[in-house]
Amino acid sequence: MCSGRVDLEFVLRAFSNGMDGAFIGGCRLGECNYVTHGNYHALNMVLLCRRIMEHIGLNPERLRIEFMSSAEGILFAQVMNEFGNQVRELGPLGEGEGIDRQELKSKLAEVIKLVPYIKMVKNEKLASRLESPEEYDQLFTREEIDELFSTVVSYYIAPEKCQACMICARRCPVGAITGAKNQIHVIDQEICIKCGTCFEVCPSKFGAVTKIVGGPVPPPIYQPTNLPIYQ
Ligand code: SF4
Ligand code: SF4
Repeated sequence: MCSGRVDLEFVLRAFSNGMDGAFIGGCRLGECNYVTHGNYHALNMVLLCRRIMEHIGLNPERLRIEFMSSAEGILFAQVMNEFGNQVRELGPLGEGEGIDRQELKSKLAEVIKLVPYIKMVKNEKLASRLESPEEYDQLFTREEIDELFSTVVSYYIAPEKCQACMICARRCPVGAITGAKNQIHVIDQEICIKCGTCFEVCPSKFGAVTKIVGGPVPPPIYQPTNLPIYQ
C-alpha cells in the first residue's frame, strides 16, 4: 500500500516484460502517515532508475512518479491521461530509442541481476530526504551511474588458497558458495549478490577471497580437490 514498497527491480521487470511506460503514484511528500516517509524512498528510487534507463539507452520519460492525495481523483485522471499520451508519443519500448528488442532485453536482465548490489552501493542516497528540487536534480548524476556500472565488484575464491574451512559458505546470505570439507569452495556468480561477506569472513591467514573491480572473473574450478581438513 506504500509507494516506498515499489522496488527498483519491479520497475525494471515491468520494462523487461515489455511495458512502454511505468507510473508510480505516492502520497504527497511530507504528508506520510508513518515515520518511514516511504514516498521519499520511492522518489529516490525513481531518480536512480531514470539514470539507469539513460545508461542503457532508454528514454527516462517512460518512468514517472507523482504525489497526490487519494481525494484528488480529477488530478489523478489528468495526470494519467497526460502520461498515457506521452508514452504513446514515445512509441513502443526500445523502438522509439532505436534499440533492438533482444539487446534491450539482455541489457535489462543484466541490470536486474545487479539490483541488490546497486541498492547496497547507493543505500545512503536511496534513504536520503532532501529539501529542494534542485538537490534532487543532482541526487544521482549520469557520470555517477556510468561509473557504477564500470566498477562493478565481483568476488572470486582463489582455488590454490582456499582451505575449505566452510566459513564463507555458512555466512553467504544467498547460498552462492558451493563446497564442503576437503573441497575447494566456488562462488556461483549467477547467484552472488556481491555483498562482500565472504571477503570479510575468510580468515586473513588464508586470504582466499579476492575482490575484483570492473574486471572479468576467472572461470570456476569444479573438480573437488583433496585438501587437509581444516578444524
Ligand atoms: S559476495 Fe556475498 S553473496 Fe557473493 S558469494 Fe560472497 S557472501 Fe555470497
Ligand atoms: S572462508 Fe576462505 S578458506 Fe574458508 S572455505 Fe571460504 S574461501 Fe575457502
